[in-house]
Amino acid sequence: MKRQGHYCKVCGEYKAHEKFSGKGHAAHICKACAQLPPEEQAERMTLNRLCNLPWQLSSAQKIWLQNRMKDKRPEVRELAREQYEARFGIGKRF
Ligand SMILES: [Zn+2]
Repeated sequence: MKRQGHYCKVCGEYKAHEKFSGKGHAAHICKACAQLPPEEQAERMTLNRLCNLPWQLSSAQKIWLQNRMKDKRPEVRELAREQYEARFGIGKRF
């Protein structure tokens, strides 16, 4: 990958190195996201991971996705369900 900058796993963006603090660099969390409460960071990270799932899931990824459909956070559940239905077509609403 030839992208410039450093990946933030919370907002899912590539940002300039100066947008990261020393500690944030290692953790892959930019300064802006480091300000967020931990549960907000965790939720965004999970949403990012859901967005970035490959089309062909490994069995571990499939299990992870199924577990996210039971997540206590509604946004995570919703996105997990969309991703699952796109691949496996279970529970189609149309
Ligand atoms: Zn960020």
